[in-house]
Amino acid sequence: MHKNSRLVNTFLNIVQIDSPSGEEDNFAKFLINILKKENLSTNIIRDKRGNLVVYLEGEGKPLLLLAHMDTVEPGRGIHAKINKDGYIESTGETILGADNKAAVASFIEVLRILKEEIIKHRPLEIVFTVNEESSNPGVSNFDYSLISSKEGFLFDSALPVGTVITAAPFYMSINIEFVGKEAHASRPEEAINAVLILKEFLNKIEIGRLDFETTFNIGIIEGGVVRNTVPSHLYLKCELRSLSYEKMIFYQKLIKESLTASAKKLSGRFKADFILENPGYNHNSNGAITIKNNLIKVLKRMNLNPKEILSWGVSDGNYFNNNGIICFNLGDGCENPHQLRERIKISELENLTRLILELIK
Ligand SMILES: [Zn+2]
Repeated sequence: MHKNSRLVNTFLNIVQIDSPSGEEDNFAKFLINILKKENLSTNIIRDKRGNLVVYLEGEGKPLLLLAHMDTVEPGRGIHAKINKDGYIESTGETILGADNKAAVASFIEVLRILKEEIIKHRPLEIVFTVNEESSNPGVSNFDYSLISSKEGFLFDSALPVGTVITAAPFYMSINIEFVGKEAHASRPEEAINAVLILKEFLNKIEIGRLDFETTFNIGIIEGGVVRNTVPSHLYLKCELRSLSYEKMIFYQKLIKESLTASAKKLSGRFKADFILENPGYNHNSNGAITIKNNLIKVLKRMNLNPKEILSWGVSDGNYFNNNGIICFNLGDGCENPHQLRERIKISELENLTRLILELIK
């Protein structure tokens, strides 16, 4: 009981320290202070981008634990309270920040328990990252030589504790420009209508779900100048996401071919930029399956109801997996993340801490 209330107090305390993306400094300093003051680790590194790496000696193969320090907006002046159903929530004017401070609080609690009790555990490499919620995550240029672990866990999925993410998508942004020739609306024969190039393109490709693990979306269409002119330019902002790299490349090629054929048919032109914004992963290697099977065993033993799911979101885990560290993203018990209704059940926060204590053995 005493331990649980300490965990909850830590959580309540840290969500009230502002740390919107790019402004994690105070929070990082707070963590360093706790770690040093309580002698929870003697080896702490803050890298150039502001990520914090905390080492703890142990026995066996090292294990990476990962959480992000930043939160989304509105995330300033957060006040957290416990409601009568056993949930921790904000006052409703801000997010709560359980994403990802539930994991941060649990890591601190685990380190405190390891300090107090003799528990045999693996060497730990705990990374607290910055800017996870922004488009340029703190780990995109992370110095991976700081980490010797070949496997790790992060807890950054707003699903019940016990949920195991087995894949996350590769993500490609695509900017397309159709170029035709303008003319007065009354003389369409003299124009090369960019809308007709788009129409041709739309006839050739699918939009939405392309297969069970791939989606394509056109999110923004802009163009034209004035009502009575046939438009010469159209701009499209699109995205392609797939759990399979091969499929992403396949559909990228298909889109390029469709663009080429459509522009050619209308005697127009196009420009297209394909930018792989972040890597994805699929935990289907032998190494990953072994880790997953062990994980499921632990979850079952703890009565945590293991559930495997495919994710359509991106986390720091995408980058660590891309750098050769088999990193499983697990449910953190958080509900309604990035919303004013964000909340977490105290029992889930406790489950998260219990689970981490088991995983490090
Ligand atoms: Zn998160």
